[in-house]
Amino acid sequence: MEHLTSISAVRERVRAWRREGHTVGFVPTMGALHAGHTSLVEAARRACHRVIASVFVNPAQFGPNEDLSKYPRDLPGDMLKLEQAGCHALFTTTPDEMYPEGFATWVTVEGLTDGLCGRARPGHFRGVTTIVAKLFNLVQPDDAFFGEKDRQQLQVLRRMTRDLDLPVRVHGCPTVREPDGLALSSRNLYLSPADRTRATALSRGLRLARAAYEGGERQAAALERVVRAELEAAQARVDYVEVVDLATLKPVAEAGDDTLVAVAAVVGATRLIDNHRLGDAFPGA
Ligand code: AMP
Repeated sequence: MEHLTSISAVRERVRAWRREGHTVGFVPTMGALHAGHTSLVEAARRACHRVIASVFVNPAQFGPNEDLSKYPRDLPGDMLKLEQAGCHALFTTTPDEMYPEGFATWVTVEGLTDGLCGRARPGHFRGVTTIVAKLFNLVQPDDAFFGEKDRQQLQVLRRMTRDLDLPVRVHGCPTVREPDGLALSSRNLYLSPADRTRATALSRGLRLARAAYEGGERQAAALERVVRAELEAAQARVDYVEVVDLATLKPVAEAGDDTLVAVAAVVGATRLIDNHRLGDAFPGA
């Protein structure tokens, strides 16, 4: 795997691949990679001739009281995992290269970013859409791969790509989970053993909501109560439990297959998120 450390090196590499007639798949990440990230690389490998990943802890998507300085970093480990997943190139960069002195241009998606994580994390999605627009522009991939674990992010990026006519196909990939259901996340590294156990309340709540839906429950309020009860029993601090339409991310009263149950909760000091589309089977259930 080639390690590229500047914008010009990425442009040159991708240009060379194109000259050879290769298609290019792109997997942006913030590092501290796990099997969720490598599943995106594997999906990219299946769809494209060449795969490039990026590792960049993007300061613009962290709020002032968030975990930017202590966000887990492990570049050697990341490189090993990417290599093993068959990634062809890795791009790493610095805040100075991405946000040079005088940087003043932002990409914002309205509406879809108002609710769910957008409410608790003002400015977060503006940071995400701006960095992804920049990365799309400098990598110029044919296809880009994102996890359904961050479903609001995926929907926001789909909308940005469509609205700005960016010539990239955005793919959503299923959430990779631990055997006990916990969605893999770089932030799981913060959990103490006791909190790690309590963290399973998120996926358990979603699984129970899905079981209630399968059993005929259609009232959003009832499904929401199922999830909330699990979180409260585990003493997780609920940020939100919402039953929303997948396309608009707005709350619905009646659930259907294209309804998303989305949850964010603080376990110990760690904010975790998870979600489930009710029309999908819950893995392991
Ligand atoms: P991050 O490094 O957390 O910014 O995530 C980079 C990409 O990996 C995003 O598209 C995430 O949605 C995706 N991702 C993170 N966790 C998982 C997971 N458990 N399963 C699938 N994709 C994931």
